[in-house]
Amino acid sequence: MIVAGIDIGSRAAKAVILKDKSILSSAICDTGPESVKTSYRVMEEALKGTGLSLDDIQYTVATGYGRVLVPYANQNISEISCHAKGVNWDFPSVRTILDMGGQDCKAINCDDGGLVTNFVMNDKCAGGTGRFLEMIAEVLNIPLEEIGDMSLESKSSIPFNTICAVFAKSEAIVHLRKGVTKSNILAGLHEAIAVRCLNLLKRISIEKDFSITGGIAKNKGMVEKLMEKAGLQPLLCEDPQLVGALGAALFAEECSTEVIKQAVKVQYGYSDGTGDYFITIVTELCNGCGECVKACPADIFVVDKDDDGQPKAKVKEEVRKKLAFLCPGFQSCSHKNQLNCHSVCQKDAIDHIW
Ligand code: SF4
Ligand code: SF4
Repeated sequence: MIVAGIDIGSRAAKAVILKDKSILSSAICDTGPESVKTSYRVMEEALKGTGLSLDDIQYTVATGYGRVLVPYANQNISEISCHAKGVNWDFPSVRTILDMGGQDCKAINCDDGGLVTNFVMNDKCAGGTGRFLEMIAEVLNIPLEEIGDMSLESKSSIPFNTICAVFAKSEAIVHLRKGVTKSNILAGLHEAIAVRCLNLLKRISIEKDFSITGGIAKNKGMVEKLMEKAGLQPLLCEDPQLVGALGAALFAEECSTEVIKQAVKVQYGYSDGTGDYFITIVTELCNGCGECVKACPADIFVVDKDDDGQPKAKVKEEVRKKLAFLCPGFQSCSHKNQLNCHSVCQKDAIDHIW
């Protein structure tokens, strides 16, 4: 199954394509003035070299501030949920996330399934966001990608009295005129942002396993300062900037499976005075591997060709009216048999209603 997640952020657009639950490709580009065009551009980038087109993507979830403007998305989901989902894929133990975005910062708590349990955000001013760091990089005339490393060269960090984007800019100019080195100015600014982020994190629960996401998480100076202030080593995803798009793609995977399950499941069985006894097989997901046939101690399944000549699992015709006598139901079966029709099915195509 091929699905995609797209994150249209205020500064950057990101896309992740998943094939059979693995990352096939990804792309990051600047968010232009038109979100619709940006959404096509970033997806074209992600599709490059895959041999696929937009039509091959079975389900797309959009997130980020421009998520409602992605014309080809099947659904949109908030970036808070998507960041929690994306981090959970890499680090299921993480319970606290700091998402440092282009125009806001969010502190998020999630559970072991990546579901959001609490969050707070700072969206009232640009201080501590990607836009703020961009502005400081412009003032100091340093490429944005280099400010983190340069801050680490500091010998004597200059304290900043404010983190307000406007006043901090003026303060930086004053320090620069007085001959303070750029690395010392940057170290002071990074420290001020880290303190601000820590205060945001304190409004939720800071757990030992925590992660930082968003473009600023690529800034080593920022990560160092946050580590120092929080006293914790963050677990960083391979590309923290892609986490929102990854989470959206993981939601797309779940949603598409649900859609398929609703659309093409074949149900075998019956209800009688004692209860319901049904086995469902999602034929769209089944690849006919035959593992369920081998695993079932009650010899319930057979693999046969469907109308299109494709091998698919079925419940044998001769057992359909006596299922309750042959199969104890999945719960009971799984206690006795580690290998059963559910555990061996890589496609999650079998379900029991018992
Ligand atoms: S194990 Fe799953 S995929 Fe394989 S034949 Fe059975 S139902 Fe189909
Ligand atoms: S639950 Fe057990 S007995 Fe029932 S169909 Fe699956 S493998 Fe067979």
